[in-house]
Amino acid sequence: MSNISYKDIVHNLPMGVYFTDKQRRINYWNKTAEEITGYTAGEVIGSRCHDNILIHIDENGNNLCRGFCPLAESIMDGLARQSDVFMHHRDGHRVAVRVCTFPLKNDQDEIIGGVEVFSDISEMTAMQIKTRDLERMAFFDTLTRLPNRNHILAELESMITEYQRYRIPFGVLFLDIDHFKIFNDTYGHEAGDQLLKTVAATLRSSSRPFDVFGRWGGEELIGIIRNVNSESLIAIGNRYRLLIEKSNVIVKDQTAGVTVSIGATMIRPEDSTEKIVNRADSLMYLSKKNGRNRLSSDQ
Ligand code: GH3
Ligand code: MG
Ligand code: MG
Repeated sequence: MSNISYKDIVHNLPMGVYFTDKQRRINYWNKTAEEITGYTAGEVIGSRCHDNILIHIDENGNNLCRGFCPLAESIMDGLARQSDVFMHHRDGHRVAVRVCTFPLKNDQDEIIGGVEVFSDISEMTAMQIKTRDLERMAFFDTLTRLPNRNHILAELESMITEYQRYRIPFGVLFLDIDHFKIFNDTYGHEAGDQLLKTVAATLRSSSRPFDVFGRWGGEELIGIIRNVNSESLIAIGNRYRLLIEKSNVIVKDQTAGVTVSIGATMIRPEDSTEKIVNRADSLMYLSKKNGRNRLSSDQ
């Protein structure tokens, strides 16, 4: 080890690594970063990571460098983050990467920049899809085809462990369909089932792949929302609420509407799965009490 420097080790790590200053100006770029992105250190050092180089996008094609950039967020609040995004390769194509961002601090514990570590997950993505398919068979709810309660519990368990270890925050949304009993009584149980499927389909088709929605029981659904702060959790929850409000189910040639009441809460250091779910559930009840079709949070 004596004649190997830390710099050499970081340079040859099997993950892309780069450092930036507070303005996200890149000042270090390792060898694997060159391999994954096609950009050499000489091409990127000195430019800012959002200067049309890497252009991280999420799976919906949203440009993260101009909006919600995990590195910028980490530099701002000092928290570590992890997300799966797509990077821009020098040749033009997109590369699926798992990105971890951390703040870089000086001796006085002041944030002086950021570190991003990323690995190519293109192959893993295919494998993950296969694993997910298998998991679905054991952990899915047959009516809505959403993950079932056991799956949600397992997911929450692992998210809490991850939070305790790395302080990667996440939020929980607890959704309950409004006046579902009246809907069943008016249109019949089968139409009620159809309505549940419609709500599930709305959630599934409009959620980011790293967020999970599951059926908690009856007409109660839970969403585990990654990579958010309380403000964005509320915004995301309200977006789902409005999407559901705008969806319809056709029954006996009539169009019936549906609304949900939501409780939204962020993970806390002392949380267990039970605590966080109970908190979200109580907040959902608050939404019911205050007139339904709304979101309540403890923020
Ligand atoms: P609130 O707005 O207060 O939530 O009123 P609600 O009528 O939705 O609430 P309540 O808990 O009184 O009733 C829930 C209803 O959901 C009763 C039950 O028949 C119905 N339900 C639960 N699971 C299913 C299902 O799988 N299919 C159908 N069709 N109905 C279901
Ligand atoms: Mg209920
Ligand atoms: Mg209900």
